[in-house]
Amino acid sequence: QDLTDLILSRIRDVADYPKPGIVFKDITPLLGDHEVFSAVVEALADGLRVDKIVGIEARGFILAAPVALRAGAGFVPVRKKGKLPAATLETSYDLEYGSAVIEVHADAFAPGDRVLIVDDVLATGGTAEATVELVGRAGAEVVGVSVLMELAFLKGRERLGQTGLRALVVV
Ligand code: 5GP
Repeated sequence: QDLTDLILSRIRDVADYPKPGIVFKDITPLLGDHEVFSAVVEALADGLRVDKIVGIEARGFILAAPVALRAGAGFVPVRKKGKLPAATLETSYDLEYGSAVIEVHADAFAPGDRVLIVDDVLATGGTAEATVELVGRAGAEVVGVSVLMELAFLKGRERLGQTGLRALVVV
């Protein structure tokens, strides 16, 4: 069984979450399966040569931290506004209703650090696009965005422009 099938077998569609009409991709069955979780971390870390892995709150943290350890890189959290204790840089981005603000510690990167951004799901791409901008402004070189799953029908890949996107599965 190849990795794509293994991953798909452990992601659950939850209808009408978080609101009516949305089908949410629930990755908790995958996280609970050691074989598949390990294979995902291996695949995301494969061949990486980066200084830092950025995880996007909150499910991104779960994938990004083990990938950082596996790749011999540091881990940096990008969080929703108000959660990081020291001096931060922030950026806001549009949601379907309203907007969101995310932050990173201002001293998280050394100038020119090579950074990979990791999240669980790429949907509209707004979160990833904002994170690329924020991490770049913090002095790092974003070498790409990696996700477990890309929802291709939402065309998030287009919002990332020339920043490379790697998805382990595309649906
Ligand atoms: P975007 O900004 O690309 O529209 O949304 C991506 C963000 O929302 C990611 O941080 C991701 O965790 C979360 N997200 C959106 N839709 C889903 C989904 O169906 N499943 C999961 N697990 N996360 C989602």
